[in-house]
Amino acid sequence: MDSNSEKPSAIPNPEKRISRRAFIRLSGAAAAGAGAAYVAYKLGLKDHGTSSVQIPEIPLPEFVSPAKHQNILVTLLKDSSSEELYPKGKVELMMEDARNYYRENSYGKINFSSEVMDWQTTSIPIDPTNLEGMAQLGNEVAESSGIETKPDSTRIYFIDRRGKKVDVGGRGEKKEPFNRVWIFAEFDSTDAKQIRHELGHSLGLGHVDFVSSKFVYGTPEFEQSLDDFTNNLSVDPAGGTADIMGRGDGHFCVANKVQMGWIKSDQIQTALGNTSCELDPVENNRGKTLGLRIPKVDTGDFYYIEYRQPTEIEKNVDEGLYFYIWDEKLGSNVKQFYIRPGHRYIKVGDEFYDKINGIRVKIVDQNGKAKLQVVFEPKKF
Ligand SMILES: [Zn+2]
Repeated sequence: MDSNSEKPSAIPNPEKRISRRAFIRLSGAAAAGAGAAYVAYKLGLKDHGTSSVQIPEIPLPEFVSPAKHQNILVTLLKDSSSEELYPKGKVELMMEDARNYYRENSYGKINFSSEVMDWQTTSIPIDPTNLEGMAQLGNEVAESSGIETKPDSTRIYFIDRRGKKVDVGGRGEKKEPFNRVWIFAEFDSTDAKQIRHELGHSLGLGHVDFVSSKFVYGTPEFEQSLDDFTNNLSVDPAGGTADIMGRGDGHFCVANKVQMGWIKSDQIQTALGNTSCELDPVENNRGKTLGLRIPKVDTGDFYYIEYRQPTEIEKNVDEGLYFYIWDEKLGSNVKQFYIRPGHRYIKVGDEFYDKINGIRVKIVDQNGKAKLQVVFEPKKF
């Protein structure tokens, strides 16, 4: 459905950011656990004795965009020869959907208004590959309309793509003085989901990829693949199954919500040793903890784990525990992680096992919240 394969337009500073001098002090059972000491060792830190281990606070994903998404101007562009693709009212309904979507996702922090202009016949031929030319036309239409817009209003250019060769559904770009979105519009292939997705790019978000194993569950090859998460996996770009920045229709994943500043950093719990944790669903922001973060020390990345309880705007999301990897090297890119073939999430009684890092994550109860247990296997180092 979603044909977006373009690169994210804004990649935040990908440098390692273990720079803050805040420390997390682990004590008692967690500190005594070999897992915590191993994590400390892998992060290049000293074990400060047997009663406690000091580990620097792990940096959260960088905040990528101010929520300036308050006003959107939509222009509809077509060739002189073509009839209007559909009434302007249909686009207004799509914008209403996108507004509700962002309002719910941001817990009310983004509540934009939008103005949709009438279809305009362009002075030069419509060409979806000529992004700057199409934007220029859209801006001219907006300026000559007499509508008062804020200088930083996000612009959306709907471009009638009938008969044109273009292999993506749209583009989105974070840019000064205003963010820009191009929608390559067709009768059926364009919907509000495309607008939700491209607006995500215009806020600076990258794609959520989907990582899966090429081996069938239960075979010796699959068992071996568990020993090597890096080399035996295939990645489907923008293939995330639950997230609008992938192929899904659901809420942004928890790492992206932190990036947007919609979730506070203290709502993400970090497990550095054996840990019990209660996760509230990422769909509402009433809970204390919305995400669990675990360092994946073999690659220097982090697991981000979230609990989903789908709402009305999420038609293709199932309830369960979802796993993501925040890629420190790529910065804005998040990978949704398979549990095993056919299992994109886990439910009560099921377990995620990262054999190479010796990490087990299990849901022990699921009743409005998910109660988790994280166990780090003792490691030699
Ligand atoms: Zn995209």
